[in-house]
Amino acid sequence: MFDYIIVGAGFSGSVIAERIANVLNKKVLIIEKKNHLGGHCYDFKNKNGITIHKYGPHIFHTNFENVYTYLSKFTEWKPYQHKVLGVIDGQKIPIPFNLNSLQKIFSEEKAKVISKKLIANYGFGTNVPILDLLKSDDKDLKKLAEFIYEKVFKNYTMKQWGITPDQIDPAVTARVPVSISNDDRYFHDKFQFMPVKGYSQIFDKMLSHKNIEILLNTNFKDLIKLDENLKQVFFKGKIFTGQLIFTGSIDELFEYKFGYLPYRSLKIEFENLPEKEFQTAAVENYPNDFDFTRITEFKKFMNEQSDFTTIAREFPLSYNPKNDDLNPYYPIRNIDNDKLFEKYKSEVEQFPNIFLVGRLAEYKYFNMDNVINNSLNLFDKLVKNG
Ligand code: UDP
Repeated sequence: MFDYIIVGAGFSGSVIAERIANVLNKKVLIIEKKNHLGGHCYDFKNKNGITIHKYGPHIFHTNFENVYTYLSKFTEWKPYQHKVLGVIDGQKIPIPFNLNSLQKIFSEEKAKVISKKLIANYGFGTNVPILDLLKSDDKDLKKLAEFIYEKVFKNYTMKQWGITPDQIDPAVTARVPVSISNDDRYFHDKFQFMPVKGYSQIFDKMLSHKNIEILLNTNFKDLIKLDENLKQVFFKGKIFTGQLIFTGSIDELFEYKFGYLPYRSLKIEFENLPEKEFQTAAVENYPNDFDFTRITEFKKFMNEQSDFTTIAREFPLSYNPKNDDLNPYYPIRNIDNDKLFEKYKSEVEQFPNIFLVGRLAEYKYFNMDNVINNSLNLFDKLVKNG
């Protein structure tokens, strides 16, 4: 019998499985719906030797030293500073919008005046969410904010979320704030790397342990049932007295009894091209043109050499759990959806041996490093609870 059952083999499930197996020397079963480990971080090398991220670009960046140290047990790293260009009015400008972007868009004189004002109002080196910049009472800064809102955020967000930036959780657009600096990097974290052999081998290393059994291509619902009266978990028809760590979508665990938790999804279209280079940056955003939001050129992440290149275009759409071709990528956080989530969460809290962790189970737009950190924290909590 297993001491722990973990649903989901993404970072949330894999990190905690690895800790339980190695540190506690307990038996773990991982149940994974997909035919591979790694969740949305899954990658593979294609026939041209290019590492492809099947579920869209994943760049490791963190300020959590413990997360970096932990993952370093399973991979070597290649330093990588992510830069993104946005195609605005036919020009490629640095995103997040910064003082260099300003110089590309406006005349030298005008860029100078506005830069000075930005620095005087917010300070050099600061990051200002677009929704805050829009509140500026300086005429020039307000105009600038409206320009950035229109050209960088509005249409991209409409495509990505189906609604405008002022209708979504402000934390989402604050992920890409206006940067009062000349720093073109997308992230400013202390640790920024790509795993030299890709993400998938991290998962292989983490989970190849005698205490860990993995069931791929398996829907947890075929093995696990909840008895809502007794508040007990059943595994293969028998009471399961160990701990269940659930990293899937929490509404699915309760058969959607309160309704569906909404997500945005992506259809990712890959294209192999017989050319060395397709675009300038690894990721280029198209806020205003086409139906896709961005194009990723994968070989650029690790400077992989090939006469070919592979690109991916991301077409956002709403998620439908009944459509097996779609993945729940982004929780759509708002007051109503958070309430629905809390309702499900309080159901879970009545089960003494179920724990939730991860982007889906916690219904939060976590980055990879948050996910790993949360999983490490849950492990500590489990250890403390005995
Ligand atoms: N965003 C935008 N224009 C851009 C880049 C981002 O409007 O050129 C907004 C959009 O709402 C997006 C959010 O900022 O969903 C967060 O972007 P991020 O790049 O962090 O998204 P992720 O990489 O997680 O898909």
